[in-house]
Amino acid sequence: MPNTVQVAQLLELVASYLPKDDQAVILAAYTYAQTSHAGQQRISGEPYIIHPLATALTLAEYHLDRDAISAALLHDVPEDTGVTLREIKRQFGETVARLVDGVTKLAKVRLKQNWQASYRGSHTDHGRENFEAFERHVETLRKMFLAMSHDIRVVLIKLADRLNNMETLASLSPDKQRRIAQETLEVYAPLANRLGIGQLKGRLEDLAFPYAFPDDYTWLNHQIHLEIGQRQRSIERLRRILLKRLVAIGIRAEAHARTKHLYSLWKKLLRHDRDLGKIHDLVAARVIVPTVEDCYRALGLVHQMWKPLPGRIKDYIAVPKPNGYQSLHTTVFGLGGAITEIQIRTPDMHRWAELGIAAHWAFKEGDQPTFRHKRTTRQRPVSRDKLVWIKELAKLHRNFEDPTEWTQNLQLDFFEHRIFVFTPHGDVLDLPTGATPIDFAFAVHSDLGRHCIGAKVNGKLVPLSYPLGSGDIVEILLNKKNTPKQDWLRFIKTNRARTLIKRDLQMTSAALDKSGGSRV
Ligand code: MN
Repeated sequence: MPNTVQVAQLLELVASYLPKDDQAVILAAYTYAQTSHAGQQRISGEPYIIHPLATALTLAEYHLDRDAISAALLHDVPEDTGVTLREIKRQFGETVARLVDGVTKLAKVRLKQNWQASYRGSHTDHGRENFEAFERHVETLRKMFLAMSHDIRVVLIKLADRLNNMETLASLSPDKQRRIAQETLEVYAPLANRLGIGQLKGRLEDLAFPYAFPDDYTWLNHQIHLEIGQRQRSIERLRRILLKRLVAIGIRAEAHARTKHLYSLWKKLLRHDRDLGKIHDLVAARVIVPTVEDCYRALGLVHQMWKPLPGRIKDYIAVPKPNGYQSLHTTVFGLGGAITEIQIRTPDMHRWAELGIAAHWAFKEGDQPTFRHKRTTRQRPVSRDKLVWIKELAKLHRNFEDPTEWTQNLQLDFFEHRIFVFTPHGDVLDLPTGATPIDFAFAVHSDLGRHCIGAKVNGKLVPLSYPLGSGDIVEILLNKKNTPKQDWLRFIKTNRARTLIKRDLQMTSAALDKSGGSRV
């Protein structure tokens, strides 16, 4: 069995934070998945089970709960084997089945094939338009992803699933590699970022970068080759000097050098004429101190030791980033005048920066941060209701300077009020909850609405008043002689449909009045 090592690893990991009966359920889920996928291989030639195992392992590193780990193990079972969701529900219960179903449904969130033309040609006028359309498309996909997930664990499973798919991307065709890599950069990594999981965002982006932009990747690697080593040595010296001085003023600090992720470095370079000399945080010194007060004291000390560059001091503690990131950043003329970025934060802030929303599972509430970043063995109960987790998210961010920015970034209202449906060509439309085929038709094109005589949802005929649901594929049946009916106004939900229907009705009645008048 080539996968015994991974199984042992997974079981050991979950044993470190879950009770015995939860461990037993996870083992049962593994055995079940292993049997269901028996004989199946990934394109790489590996036994299929390696993939769900890797997905579960990532989530176990975040200390996710029993149901999430079980669902991760089972996530490809209904899609790829003869086993139905009902069977999974019978064996593992409602929650696991719901999580698996959620992950399966998210497969519909797919980047359109023609992204590359849109992305590349963004300097021309026509290209600009295409690019904006592309941006709207990916934004809709991100919203749809969140709206369809309902449970934060579905998102986390899907992100872990994608991480493993990126790790094994080499075995796919170049076409697929490019599409999947771009999808990762445009949909998955931004979602990881919005949930504050910096670690995962960085890993996803760096795995996708060489496939999505191979030339730029090669160029950048060549550029930083010498630079990184040199800057790391300089930061290492600065780090030791700084630690001594912090201890001298009574602050127990930890410090390390952090190297910027390649993809985010490249994005930054694009904004700075590709000039590495203008990037001051290629390698930065990261200082972790016990309390918020210590953060500001440490900043004061740093500025006494090295002159700060004007305008480069950022207080993300007082004003956190929209995804909850907190730290003090400053850029100083460091050793030998070398321009150096220093980041100062508490262990709590550090955990949020790395784990984001996943920190919820990894550390129990009120756990006092320690200097070893020790993981606790008890986990917090997990909220199952989507409303609860949305509130949890909101609560985590209640200190925001500008709460509307956070709301916009996470599109919280989309969870409650929006649905995402597909045209038969796979285009995604974003409509209010309760929208009907008529709303859909008018959203696509006014003529499609006007001449609509029937609709199929997921291949089945439905009434025109049928309330659509997220993930539905909607096909409109037409008759060119048909005009809008008064009756439609009773059930439609969008203003666009209402306005267009009323206009048509007025035109029709005006025409009738006219013809009626001429008869008298
Ligand atoms: Mn999968």
